[in-house]
Amino acid sequence: MTMIDFTDYKAAKAQILSAEFEDADPRDVLRAAFKTLFVGERVALVTSFGAESAVLLHMAAQVDRTIPVVSVDTGKLFGETRRYRRKLVERLGLTNLRVVEPEPEPLAQADPKGVLWHQDADACCHVRKVVPLARALDGVDVWLSGRKRYQASSRERLPMFEAEEGRIKVNPLANWTRDDLDGYFDAHDLPRHPLEADGYLSIGCQPCTEPVAPGEDPRAGRWRGQAKTECGIHTVLYSQGGGI
Ligand code: SF4
Repeated sequence: MTMIDFTDYKAAKAQILSAEFEDADPRDVLRAAFKTLFVGERVALVTSFGAESAVLLHMAAQVDRTIPVVSVDTGKLFGETRRYRRKLVERLGLTNLRVVEPEPEPLAQADPKGVLWHQDADACCHVRKVVPLARALDGVDVWLSGRKRYQASSRERLPMFEAEEGRIKVNPLANWTRDDLDGYFDAHDLPRHPLEADGYLSIGCQPCTEPVAPGEDPRAGRWRGQAKTECGIHTVLYSQGGGI
C-alpha cells in the first residue's frame, strides 16, 4: 500500500495557496483560512501583542471573536505589553486567549538567576519561548502569524503560506507595508502599543529590545549587537533554506 507523505502534501499545498493568494487582501486570506481552506483542522492565531499585533487581531475578530489566540509570556516582557494585551483583548472582544508561560521547573533549572538572556540568548529563547509555544500548539494544524516582508531583510521572501513541522503557517500580512498598517490603525482607531511612541517598532522581551533610529529595519532593536535576529519560533525554514 502506498503511504501518503503528509510533509510533502502540506509543502505542496502551501506552495499552491501562496501562489493563489499572493496578491490577496489579508482579510480574504483570513476568511479563507477560517472558513474554507482548512475545514476540520484546528487553526490558532499566534501573537506577541507587539507594535503591529492589533491589525491581525482586529481582522481576525471581524471573522470570529472566538478564534483561539495564543501568546507566550516569557516572564521578561515589558509591563506595557501586558497592559496592552489586556486593553486589546477587551477592545476587540476576543474570548479565546491563551497565554502560555515557561514551565517553572525547567525554567528554574535553565535560568536560575533570570540572566540567561545575557549569557546565552538562544538558550533563553528556547526555554522561555520555543518550548512553551510548542506545547501550546500541540494539536494545532494551522498557525496564523503576523509577520511581514518589510520588517527585515531576512523576511523579504516570506511566503503567504508555509509548511513547517507538520502544520501550515499562514502569514496574511506578508505583503503589507508600514503605510498599509498605519492606514489600518487609523481607519479602525486601534490603540497603539505604548512603547511605539518611544521608537520601539518591534517589541519583544524587555532585556533584548531597544528602540530603532529613523530608517533602520523595524527589528534592528531586537538583540542589538548580536548575530541573533529571530527568537527561534520561526527559524525552521531558515535552517532548511526555504521560504523566508
Ligand atoms: Fe530571553 Fe531575550 Fe529571548 Fe526573551 S528575547 S526569551 S529575554 S533571550
